[in-house]
Amino acid sequence: MAVIRARALEELLELEGKGGPVVSLYLNVTPPRPFKSELHSLIHEKRERLAEAGVDKDLRRRVDAVLDRIRAHVDELRAPEGTRLLALFATPDGFWQEYRLPVALPSRLYVEPDPYIRPLTALLDEFDRYCVLVADARKARLFTMYLGEIEEHLGFFESDTPSWISEGDGRAARGPAVGVGAWAGWREPVIQRHIQDHMHRHLKRVTERTFHAFKRLRFDRLIVGAPEGREGKIYSLLERHLHSYLRARLAGVFPGEPDMPEHELKRRALAVARAHERAEEERLISRLLEESRHWEGLGVLGLARVLSALLQGQVHTLVVDHGFQTPGRVCPRDHYLTLAEERCPLCGGTLVWVEDFIDEVVEEAIAQGAEVEHVFTDHPEFSAHGIGALLRFRV
Ligand SMILES: [Zn+2]
Repeated sequence: MAVIRARALEELLELEGKGGPVVSLYLNVTPPRPFKSELHSLIHEKRERLAEAGVDKDLRRRVDAVLDRIRAHVDELRAPEGTRLLALFATPDGFWQEYRLPVALPSRLYVEPDPYIRPLTALLDEFDRYCVLVADARKARLFTMYLGEIEEHLGFFESDTPSWISEGDGRAARGPAVGVGAWAGWREPVIQRHIQDHMHRHLKRVTERTFHAFKRLRFDRLIVGAPEGREGKIYSLLERHLHSYLRARLAGVFPGEPDMPEHELKRRALAVARAHERAEEERLISRLLEESRHWEGLGVLGLARVLSALLQGQVHTLVVDHGFQTPGRVCPRDHYLTLAEERCPLCGGTLVWVEDFIDEVVEEAIAQGAEVEHVFTDHPEFSAHGIGALLRFRV
């Protein structure tokens, strides 16, 4: 899966106000959608619209070149496993950014002065960016993880602690279990203290680096790996040095060491992340279930209730079961959404039948500025409804 870097999003935001044109594409690549032919018709329609709207010929030529590049790119694309949405932003000047997300939206193509970022940021907000710190007494490794992939390596540190410590009398002692003959009893505590001092300095430096990374990258959660995990000595020492901001963001601790293979560290960190996300989902769902039980509560369950809340602008957080999909009707003019009606009550127009109706519901929620949370794990009581919403207010 393509990596989504915090800095890439900043570059994208920098296109705002530059006058464009920017092509923004949201392509639903959920199997088995024929997304390539869908893109061809989106491009065809967009070209006709731009011509009808009397857009300047030279500008249209530049946009056409971008659309051709996008089409060639997507024609070559094999949707990677787990990807449901491709979001792509490109300009005639060669700007090109691509995001692959595990959640879907309806396919749309925009050509505007600014990139159309809102749906992307709303979806990205759902997923926590983790910083993983793995440390032992002398070494440390730091990286960020996003959407299940290692995003950025922030370094491998080796403290300057020598593996032996000279006492200045010309005789070197090796490791913590040291001492020669009669000196042993005297030297050992001194050396132990040196090693302890070095370890403290090392852990202090490591936690400072982590805090520095936090200030720069604003990750959401911290995961720590240390020998013997939370029960180990290193972790308890390290925890004392952790800035309170970071301690408040701790998602969990796993047993691990900095020089373990990367895929193994990633596997262990992901297990912690999954458990954390599962717990967050549990919290959200219990709140939703609780709120929807009372008649004055700020929660609704089931598509019919969610739709009526959405039409009245009540939705604060839309909660969607990842696998929930059902058909419905949409007004192509004003995006009125319904399960039952034949004609749009707002404009009187004919409604269009869509298979992936839930994607339209998610899009509408985002357009209204609501938060969206996809639920990836199984919660029988919630899954029976498939969708729900926490409300801003009751009517
Ligand atoms: Zn309508």
